Amino acid sequence: MNKTAIFPGSFDPITLGHVSVIKRAIPLFDRIIVGIGVNSEKRSMFTPEQRKTWIAEIFLNETKVVVEVFSGLTVDFCREKGAGYILRGLRTAADFEFERSIGQVNKKLYPEIDTLFLLTEPEYTPVSSSIVREVLRYGGDVSKMVPKEVLRDIQK
Ligand code: ADP
Repeated sequence: MNKTAIFPGSFDPITLGHVSVIKRAIPLFDRIIVGIGVNSEKRSMFTPEQRKTWIAEIFLNETKVVVEVFSGLTVDFCREKGAGYILRGLRTAADFEFERSIGQVNKKLYPEIDTLFLLTEPEYTPVSSSIVREVLRYGGDVSKMVPKEVLRDIQK
């Protein structure tokens, strides 16, 4: 059976924490679809196209990893793609509580789906896209938080 996972998120922008989760999940799945969820009510710093371009470039040589933009429910996107798993990362107990409720709701909506969690690597526990955006707004250094492809473009 083809094991496909969706890694859903905003990725606004993708961070080294996200990259670590994706890389560690590669041996576990046949295909990982990084799903950039767009929601008209959520304001973003980077366009979905820009976020997609970065992820595609970072994983250019990983044939199992693809990136797509989607809107609507993650479980509907999973159904459309034939994915049996949702991949998520866990940093803290707060993440766990949040993820537990989404994961359990997703299971109710789509019983065939399971959510797989990977713990963050310790050095990335404090890293989040929202922290990166906040640091960028005030001109701070995000070089330890984002991949070089993102760094290159935001320094332009
Ligand atoms: P969302 O908008 O759904 O919060 P994010 O783009 O912030 O999406 O994150 C997507 C997934 O990546 C979530 O499961 C989140 O917990 C995980 N994640 C975010 N930052 C890190 C990190 N530093 N280490 C590990 N996982 C992370």
